[in-house]
This record gives sequence, C-alpha cells and structure tokens, in this order.
Amino acid sequence: MNPSFSSHLVNDVFGDPGLFVEVRWSKRALLFDLGHNDALGPTRLLRAGDIFISHTHMDHFIGFDALLRVALRRGKTLRLYGPPGLIANVQGKLHGYTWNLVDGYPLAIAVQEFHAHTIHSATFHATDGFLRRDAPEIPVIGHASHGSFCILEDPMFTVQAVALNHRISSFGYALQEPFHVNINKERLHEAGLPVGYWLKEVKQYLWQGKPDDFRFRATLYHEHHREEREFVLGDVRERFVTISRGQKIAYVVDARYDEENEAKIIELARSADIFYCEAPFLDQDAEKAWERYHLTARQAGLMARKAGVRELVVFHFSPRYTGLGHQIVAEAQGAFREG
Ligand SMILES: [Zn+2]
Ligand SMILES: [Zn+2]
Repeated sequence: MNPSFSSHLVNDVFGDPGLFVEVRWSKRALLFDLGHNDALGPTRLLRAGDIFISHTHMDHFIGFDALLRVALRRGKTLRLYGPPGLIANVQGKLHGYTWNLVDGYPLAIAVQEFHAHTIHSATFHATDGFLRRDAPEIPVIGHASHGSFCILEDPMFTVQAVALNHRISSFGYALQEPFHVNINKERLHEAGLPVGYWLKEVKQYLWQGKPDDFRFRATLYHEHHREEREFVLGDVRERFVTISRGQKIAYVVDARYDEENEAKIIELARSADIFYCEAPFLDQDAEKAWERYHLTARQAGLMARKAGVRELVVFHFSPRYTGLGHQIVAEAQGAFREG
C-alpha cells in the first residue's frame, strides 16, 4: 500500500516541536505547530496551507514569522487553526512590524480558534496592512466522545482535535484518511491503460462519494499519443481499485498526565498508524513533569499501548537530558511494547 500521508518531525527530538505531513496526490502539506522551522526550507513551508497550532507557548509559535516571511509575496491564504487566544496572538505578531509597502501583496491569513461550543474566525490581508476582520461566530461541529471535535473536513482527510490540560488549553490533533484507495497498476497495464493524473481524479471522485454510475471524461497520456475517454466510476472501481483502511496520524504535545487528559489522548490516538507524542521527561522526574504540565516517556508509551497504535515516535525532549535521548526513547518504547 502506498500511504497517502508521509510525515516527519520538523526538528530533531531536542528541537522545537513540529510535524510536517505531505499529502500525496496533491501538492498540499499540513503543518502541526510553528516552532523553529528553518529546517523545512521555503519550498516545504510554502506548501503548508493548513497549519494546526497546539498552543502558543514560544517553542510552538516562534516560527510564525519565518512562515509569514516566505509567504508574504505569494498569492496564497494561510489557514491557521488552534485554541482560544490564537487570533489575538496572530494579530500581536502582525502588529510587531511595519506594513506600509505591502499593499500590492496578495497574502491572506485566515485564523480559526475553537472554543468549547463556538468557532471564532478572523482574516488579515496584506493589502490593507493586515487589519483584523472578524467573522460571525459559528458552532463547533460534532463533539464526539471524550471531547474531540472536528477542525477540518476535506474530501481526502479529516482533522480532529481535543483540548488538553497544560494549565492552558493545548490541542492534540489526529489526521485521518476516511479510507485508502489503492490502484492496481498491473491490471491497468493489462487493460492497456496508462497511469497518470487521471487516477488522481478517480481518487478524488471516490473520496467525494460520487455514485457508481457517475460518468467522467479523462485525458490519458499513452507513450506516443493522448486520448480522451469516458469512464463510469463504478466500472473503474471494480476493475482497478481496492479500498482499504485509511491512514491515521496523531500528534500530542504539552499535556499533563491526569485522568482526563489520558482518556482524551487514548481516544484521539486510537489505532493510529503513527502516534507522535511529546516525552520531555524521564519517569524518574515524573513529579517535575506533573508540575510543568508535561508527560514523561513512560506515560507516552503507556498511552500509546492503550490506544493500540502501530508506531510511537517520541520527541520534544527537555534539554536537561542532552546526551541521554536514547534513554527517553528506550523508556517510551519499553512501556509501549511491554506495558
Ligand atoms: Zn507549552
Ligand atoms: Zn512545548
């Protein structure tokens, strides 16, 4: 199976937290948190149109400036999602600079902050020096069990969040593909059909839930010629497509190990293919972790185990353990594999 999401941490395990996720079959990428992100480089930063912020402590938000700088001259909209206070934080960042020469720039920034029952939205446009424009509040959709709610719904994926206790609200996120579409290239080949862009369109139609009798025209690029052809979706699906379970990635940072957080995190990460979880402390320093509203490596491992995830990746290590990163990893993986 060719996974639809390919994900990697923005920095090494002692660096600022952040997760970059490429969405295959599209030129899109998602970014979780905006700590230092120089390692991504401008190309990847620019691809990230949807950005999910856990909370705005400095190590999770200082990279906003770098993103703003590379996006400024581009005709794009940056979409930021996060907890209450995010709009004011973005506004504060934008107020930190002078904008008298940007009126020709097409950048827009759209921010949504998720409160318990309502979503507050505001946009900022370079053309008017990033004046804040608030939109009417709308209700949050679908408070599922354990307080998770929908942040973004796209035909190809959904992003869910939970508000975790970090003395402020820190959002954990789960990215989920509704189902995975596998194309059987051998059978395509046997039928004399080429691979190419038209298969991306097939996937889009399936994700959009188009019916079996849906007809579409596609352009096929054979080795020496181009062909326009009409297909029936159900026929293509039956002959060349296998549907399997969708991919899931969970991202949790900056949360205390209390009963409520634990229940929310386990539910959020349930059966994830990859669970990215913070592990700033070793369990011998569990008291310190508790005081600072953070997890230990063992706690991360135990929750990953209870959630039945396939793979656990720990990060956001405290600098106090510099040189001892392998111990944090060993403790987390030990608890994950053996309990
Ligand atoms: Zn924090
Ligand atoms: Zn942090």
